[in-house]
Amino acid sequence: MLDSPLSNYFRLTERQILILKKFGLQIVRDLLWHFPVRYEGFAGRKAVADLVAGERASVHGRVIKTEAKKTFRKKISLAQTLISDGTGSLKIVWFNQPYMVNILKPNTDYTFTGTIKRDKNGLSMMNPVFEAGEITANESGILVPIYPETRGLTSRWLRFAIKRILDHLEVGLPSGSPTSLKDSIPEEILKKYNLPSLKSAIKEIHFPRNLKWAEAARKRFAFEEIFIIQLIRQAWRKKRDEHPSYQIAIEPEKIKDFVKAFPFELTGAQKRASEHILEDLGRAKPMSRLLEGDVGSGKTAVAAVASFAAVQNNFQVAYMAPTEVLARQHFEEFIRRFKQLNIKIGLATSSEFLKYPSKAFAGKPTHIARAPLLKWLASGEIQILIGTHSLIQEKIKFKKLALVIVDEQHRFGINQRLKLTQKGHEENLPAGGQIPHLLSMTATPIPRTLALTIYGDLDLTLLDEMPAGRKKIITEIIAPEKRKHAYEHVRKKISFGRQAYVLCPRIESEEVRLLREVGLPEMRAVKKEYKTLSENIFPEFKVAMLHGKLKPKEKEKIMKEFREGKIQLLVATSVIEVGVDVPNATIILIEGAERFGLAQLHQLRGRVMRSEHQPYCFLFTESNSQKTKARLQALLEAKSGFELAEYDLELRGPGELTGQKQWGISDVGMEALKNIKMVEAAREEARKIIEANSIQKYPELARRVSAQSASLHFE
Ligand code: ADP
Ligand code: MG
Repeated sequence: MLDSPLSNYFRLTERQILILKKFGLQIVRDLLWHFPVRYEGFAGRKAVADLVAGERASVHGRVIKTEAKKTFRKKISLAQTLISDGTGSLKIVWFNQPYMVNILKPNTDYTFTGTIKRDKNGLSMMNPVFEAGEITANESGILVPIYPETRGLTSRWLRFAIKRILDHLEVGLPSGSPTSLKDSIPEEILKKYNLPSLKSAIKEIHFPRNLKWAEAARKRFAFEEIFIIQLIRQAWRKKRDEHPSYQIAIEPEKIKDFVKAFPFELTGAQKRASEHILEDLGRAKPMSRLLEGDVGSGKTAVAAVASFAAVQNNFQVAYMAPTEVLARQHFEEFIRRFKQLNIKIGLATSSEFLKYPSKAFAGKPTHIARAPLLKWLASGEIQILIGTHSLIQEKIKFKKLALVIVDEQHRFGINQRLKLTQKGHEENLPAGGQIPHLLSMTATPIPRTLALTIYGDLDLTLLDEMPAGRKKIITEIIAPEKRKHAYEHVRKKISFGRQAYVLCPRIESEEVRLLREVGLPEMRAVKKEYKTLSENIFPEFKVAMLHGKLKPKEKEKIMKEFREGKIQLLVATSVIEVGVDVPNATIILIEGAERFGLAQLHQLRGRVMRSEHQPYCFLFTESNSQKTKARLQALLEAKSGFELAEYDLELRGPGELTGQKQWGISDVGMEALKNIKMVEAAREEARKIIEANSIQKYPELARRVSAQSASLHFE
């Protein structure tokens, strides 16, 4: 039953099927796992004639008429509705919500819940919650689940449908039959952490006896989600650990000399990270490490140290970046780091192959054809190969690849990362076959609990210190009337030779439509902003536009011109490449700042902190809410992106945690991340099962894990 299409159980129109599908609701199981966002407290149902002043009650009645008014003295706007249920009529009043008049349709039935008041005109109900139609009370008639709604899919229908399925499950299904609910969490774990069984939890999450039961149910599903992710990640790790890697002999003196040639001193964090990594490389067991550090914290230098150790031992290194711009940037930085050492470095992207050094031009890289590049890689002559995902191609074969570095690793699919770490054994890695060490890097600041979950297969190292000598960024929240001021400041800085970014929230047509519907200010669209800035505000400067709809070639061209200083002002969505290093860009203006997560804003401003010039970040917001202001204020005070990510998690609202979707964690799962104890428990229980290799003892768990990890492979 759980796997049959909803249309087997409900009479659905084509349109309804489409809407349900849009919400990922196709089979019965989907519907049961579509959890309410909250519960509304509906009180005991009463007839109008029986109402008493001072009590809270639910009344089911028909709307006779509605009108908008202003109070006589204070001019407060009111919406008034008169309803009748056959036993009498009742006045319903909303303060400051005049639009209620448009929402409530005359001659239609609703259930209203609120407190009854008495004034000189009789009884009335103030600011009630309400729902179309009649609320069918659950067992105790108190908590009614409210689901995420969209047009054409109401909470009311969802309640009806879910109730019906639950009733079905309740009767007539012999336990153990293939259609009954099977719990994926082992019983001893449920007991140990006092979690409700699946059967009870699924009932209580939809129709809870009281909020305590609802919470326990949510907690259970949250645990389950984190537990399964942990199992998948740790299984991968175990698979990696079953293979030996290349033992890289570390010669501390040589490494010291290598680092001494840098034009700067490594930060304490860079030193510590390098030590961790070198220690890992010195073992015959594959390293699986994630280096997490804010933009500009100097991850490339650490990557260079690790690469140096590998090439010293006559091994090869593959360094993969998500874009051509970044790959090229790393190539150039590596040339600077390795130039005295006569180490051969290659660059491979989809548009070019370069090799350094070249015979023809001493000290400069030259273009080469694909064939010699492949040849030199296979012979081990090219020791470090830097590039984009083109490194994954099967044709690219190394002689002795011992270290794989993946920059901005979240920008790659898991499958792509796997392919690179199994280089040379694309088809099937033989048991006991040697695999390279893996150094993953990311600048995405995420809370610790999230990192422990989604990177459950990696050891973490934080780069939590910025290179000395950087100017501290000046971040300001700009009130609308000060906008001109901010522009003048930008004009001045650009006249002195600096460059600036203007960031606009991403536009997705669906989102724009929804915003308009709920009456929020429309976001400043890139195109509109570009037009205003280039024509009216900064006609004297070269302004360009960068967004996701541009072709890759156009994007590269614009970024190149920006890097070369030919473009002074770049209007962009957040597509501007993570990690792009344009030191001369020292100002970033962010429109609709309230629409970004704090950690994301922090990352964005990191783009302008790459030189000795004073950097600025101006935040524009059209929201007047105190909450928004307090939230943005945190940016003025926080010390690191990780701190902000924790803050985001705490204050989590829609979209506040950057890229939640990308991590594939549900809303319920995100709740678990606020609870480090729960995350650690899930991690520990997963570890025990993986270590004992005992997952097959739990068939339902094994099924969930393999289904989910298959879908991850194709992400
Ligand atoms: P990330 O990749 O972590 O965002 P990068 O590796 O691109 O940062 O480094 C940013 C800039 O800082 C580069 O120009 C790099 O040369 C420089 N840099 C790195 N480490 C240091 C340091 N310890 N002191 C001064 N500058 C540094
Ligand atoms: Mg980087």
